Amino acid sequence: MNNTAPQVRTLTGPVIAIDGPAGSGKSTVSRALAARLGIDRLDTGAMYRAVAWAALHRSIEPQDRKAVAELARTLVFEVGERVEADGCDVTEAIRGAEVSGAVSSVAANPDVRSVLVERQRQWVAERGGGVVEGRDIGSVVLPEADVKIYLTASAEERARRRPEEGADAVARRDRLDSTRETSPLGVAEGARIIDTTARSVGDIVDEVIAWL
Ligand code: C5P
Repeated sequence: MNNTAPQVRTLTGPVIAIDGPAGSGKSTVSRALAARLGIDRLDTGAMYRAVAWAALHRSIEPQDRKAVAELARTLVFEVGERVEADGCDVTEAIRGAEVSGAVSSVAANPDVRSVLVERQRQWVAERGGGVVEGRDIGSVVLPEADVKIYLTASAEERARRRPEEGADAVARRDRLDSTRETSPLGVAEGARIIDTTARSVGDIVDEVIAWL
């Protein structure tokens, strides 16, 4: 065996990009898809939430562009089934009202985005594929994805899926995410739109798999 031979990466699965507003079903669908295909899933929203949590934890103003960018560059965090930041398990804390209220400001920061986008691309490169969900996956992070999906659902249904956040806070977050200057939420070029309002998860997964 030649130990100096370059390592050839074999692709382990397709690259699937899933975007959509809050409560559109991204996490449920991406989890089910990843399980069905036997590949990993990355929740990029949890990354922005981890940075927002750390900003609040360290009393950094979410709007302080320089300080939050520095935080994103230096923060030690891990996003998987559990989410860890600053040595704490923040899996539940990042879903709380405080973080949900601050995360859109953190995510509007272009310096934060460039740090996290780099990490997201690296995550896919290390695995040779995966299901990645967020707001700018099909448009910015992985424009060459094998399949791009934009999930949507009626405003009533999306609010119903986020009882702890509340309809007004969900609407505010979607407005901020869709109107920001850098990488606003929108339907990426070539993305297929799926309305999840009255459909079962299994049915949606079947439809996506048929596109691969
Ligand atoms: O997906 P989730 O609702 O947990 O995302 C939380 C927030 O993170 C979003 O409201 C948005 O501000 C930000 N986000 C983003 N880009 C992504 C994923 C999430 O701006 N790719």
